[in-house]
Amino acid sequence: MNIGVLALQGDVREHLTALAESDVLARPVRRPEELAEVDGLVIPGGESTAISKLAVSFGLLDPIRKRIADGMPVYGSCAGMIMLATTVLDGRSDQETFQGIEMTVRRNAFGRQVDSFEASVEIDDVDGGPFHAVFIRAPWVEQVGGDVRVLGRVAEGADAGRIVAVRQGNLLATAFHPELTGDLRVHRYFVEMVRQAL
Ligand code: GLN
Repeated sequence: MNIGVLALQGDVREHLTALAESDVLARPVRRPEELAEVDGLVIPGGESTAISKLAVSFGLLDPIRKRIADGMPVYGSCAGMIMLATTVLDGRSDQETFQGIEMTVRRNAFGRQVDSFEASVEIDDVDGGPFHAVFIRAPWVEQVGGDVRVLGRVAEGADAGRIVAVRQGNLLATAFHPELTGDLRVHRYFVEMVRQAL
C-alpha cells in the first residue's frame, strides 16, 4: 500500500512522519505521475488558497478530482478539509477545491483574534477517548449534505458543538491537526480506510 501526501505547501513532513509511524509507505506527491502510483492521499494543513493555486499550476486539480470521483480515499486536515469541501465561505473568489465532501466550510472560522487554540474532540469510530485537538486558523463545517457523517464536534468552550470532523464515503476531513500532536489514531483510521478500498 502506498499513501501519498500532497506536497505543494503546508505541513507535509509531519504527515509523512505520522504515516511512517503508522507503518505504511508514505511518499510526497507533486506530479500527476506520482498521484497515479498512490492508493490514498493526504492533503496537509497549510494555506488552502496557496494549495489551490499550486494544484492548478502543477496540473493536479483535475487528476485529483478524478481520483476522488473514482473512489480513492483522501484525508484532509485543516486546509486539506477546505480543499475537500464543495462550498467555501470566506474564501477567495478564485479558490478552487477538489470537491468531494458535500459540505459548506468557513475559513478561519474560530475567533479571528485567536490564531490557535486547543480543545478536546471525540471522534466516532475512533476509540481511546477524546483527542487533544490543535486548531490553527481552522475552518469549521457549517452545513453538511445527507451523505456526510459528522464524526466529531468541539466538546467544550465557546465553540462547543461546532463540527470539526466528517466523513463521506472514502473521504475524511478534520479541522484540527493530529499530525502535530503525535496521536496516530486518525492516521491509523485513514490507513484502514485505504486498506479496505484496495
Ligand atoms: N486558514 C488556512 C486556510 O484557509 C488553514 C489553516 C491550517 O491549515 N492550519 O487554508
